[in-house]
Amino acid sequence: MKLKSYGEGIAKGMLVTMKNAIRDPITTQYPEKRLNISRRSRGNQLVWNKTACISCSMCARACPVNCITMVTSRDENKKLQMDKMDVDTGVCISCGLCVEACPQKCLFMSRDYEKAVYSRKKLKLTKEDILMTDSSKPSGYYSPENETKLPKQTLLIDGKKWDK
Ligand code: SF4
Ligand code: SF4
Repeated sequence: MKLKSYGEGIAKGMLVTMKNAIRDPITTQYPEKRLNISRRSRGNQLVWNKTACISCSMCARACPVNCITMVTSRDENKKLQMDKMDVDTGVCISCGLCVEACPQKCLFMSRDYEKAVYSRKKLKLTKEDILMTDSSKPSGYYSPENETKLPKQTLLIDGKKWDK
């Protein structure tokens, strides 16, 4: 009797192994394969559109942890200009209040999430570091009109394949 149950156990175990050997994988090898993150992902990297900025400092004032340091001055036409805008991303809590406070919508969160660094010093970004470029990827946070244009999230559980 015991021998029979033992054999059944092995057969069931083999069946489970076989099923898992032939089904689609449910994990991927990062960074060789990258999945699309959710369209609703807020993002945690600030990006600054210099051209639209009016140097009003509302973003710095809205920051609850004071991680935006800003220095402004007036040019020869008495127009405000941004001399310095540093963001200490090691202190930033990605709350997004600065994005919401900006009257020009020139500060936004990026979907880029691969910004790890080895030194804490490198977490202090200057305005040049956060400058908007052609490769900046705005998230849908506080800009729902962006959300529909973003690529759909890759869900392996639906049997979909990842982007190569
Ligand atoms: S996301 Fe929040 S914590 Fe980070 S800089 Fe903006 S207001 Fe400050
Ligand atoms: S709130 Fe917007 S417009 Fe004002 S200084 Fe900040 S980024 Fe520039």
